[in-house]
Amino acid sequence: MTYAVEFQHLSRTFDKVRAVDNVSLQIEEGEFFSMLGPSGSGKTTCLRLIAGFEQPSAGSVRIFGQEAAGLPPYRRDVNTVFQDYALFPHMSVADNVAYGLMVQGVDKRERQRQAQAMLELVKLGDYGDRRPAALSGGQRQRVALARALIKKPRVLLLDEPLGALDLKLREQMQIELKSLQRQLGITFIYVTHDQGEALSMSDRVAVFNRGGIEQVATPRVLYTQPATAFVADFVGTSNVFDRAAALTLCGCDIPFSIRPERIRIGQDSPRDDELGLTGELIDIQYLGATSRFEVRAGNGKILSVVNPNQDDLDVGQAIGATVRLSWPKRAMHPLDAGEN
Ligand code: ATP
Repeated sequence: MTYAVEFQHLSRTFDKVRAVDNVSLQIEEGEFFSMLGPSGSGKTTCLRLIAGFEQPSAGSVRIFGQEAAGLPPYRRDVNTVFQDYALFPHMSVADNVAYGLMVQGVDKRERQRQAQAMLELVKLGDYGDRRPAALSGGQRQRVALARALIKKPRVLLLDEPLGALDLKLREQMQIELKSLQRQLGITFIYVTHDQGEALSMSDRVAVFNRGGIEQVATPRVLYTQPATAFVADFVGTSNVFDRAAALTLCGCDIPFSIRPERIRIGQDSPRDDELGLTGELIDIQYLGATSRFEVRAGNGKILSVVNPNQDDLDVGQAIGATVRLSWPKRAMHPLDAGEN
């Protein structure tokens, strides 16, 4: 099978920093693929290696089956949208969008026609004559997108493109980006450190940590079956039980994680298919639709998130109270033993 982008044992080292460390990865054509991870984990370097702004120290990048080494950025079938948009302030919005075609020598009338079509695609059909300074952040972001799309790349690289927008606009743009990607069928490779953003838009997500990949999976699998303690903790919130805690709790010899919303809190004993323990309630946060209960048990803390409005919830509600936590055994997800 030919992949849109494939990494084979890819590494990039800067002096002594292993920014990307022996990463192998396949991204399929038409996928919305996210690279998710904390600052400094190597995501941007991966994107730059695909674009051709960086060269591998070892291993290779293939784009639609072709070895990319030696191909300059403009010879690669990819285009990049940066976080700072990088629009030319002295040019109109339409000229900004048409810029790539001008460089290619496309004649003026055709440039204008295509730029207008792209602006309509990103719902800015009436804004072509303005300067970038006369647009809002979200509108500028869409101009940058139109400018990247006009050259009809088969792969679009997006580096935290929504980072500068406020929460509401960001959520709206997430929906628009996803729908645009579906409509165009272009492969999107999206870099973000925001797990909510990655989960809501992507077909698959690669979770980066210190230059390597911890797990590649669909958002649902990533959330319900995190492979490592790092993923369990970085994607959503999780209770991670290391091997020692697992041994005491259930005689299991492997670390595991449980999502807080799978943990019941109350006074009743665990059922047959459940495990449980008692602890001291140390904090309660009321959040409207849910409440977060923090319980100290043994040496650790366990978080339980429940619907506080259910009729049968009886926690005693008092900080310092002794409470029982119970969870279905099947909610326990084993983690790679090396990670604890
Ligand atoms: P962020 O979310 O903050 O952008 P990131 O996951 O994209 O982070 P990278 O920008 O890929 O991370 O950086 C990975 C590591 O490589 C970091 O430790 C960074 O300091 C280092 N690094 C990246 N580019 C260079 C460079 N040109 N010279 C030296 N070190 C670099």
